[in-house]
Amino acid sequence: MEMVAKKHGWHLNRDEEFLDILAEGLTTNFNRYGYYSCPCRDADGQRELDKDIICPCDYCIPDQQEYGHCYCGLYLTPEFYETGKEPEAIPERRPL
Ligand code: SF4
Repeated sequence: MEMVAKKHGWHLNRDEEFLDILAEGLTTNFNRYGYYSCPCRDADGQRELDKDIICPCDYCIPDQQEYGHCYCGLYLTPEFYETGKEPEAIPERRPL
């Protein structure tokens, strides 16, 4: 998560307990499916069907542009981070 954030110039959520939960979810999904599917969404279990939600997902940047953070609240834009606000629940952008 730190490597991804650094590579993209994002910030991680500052709540370390929450980060631990997300890291555990990503690890569980990796061990289960062989890829890091989003810890906040149900995966199908087939890479082809889940490729849009492999972290960082296809919806991360549009959500950051609109709300300042991804759906899970893991990756924050520098601008959002600077506000000191906590990420809030945002609408699911993934098509049903
Ligand atoms: S919502 Fe955030 S944590 Fe979930 S896959 Fe997208 S970038 Fe990763």
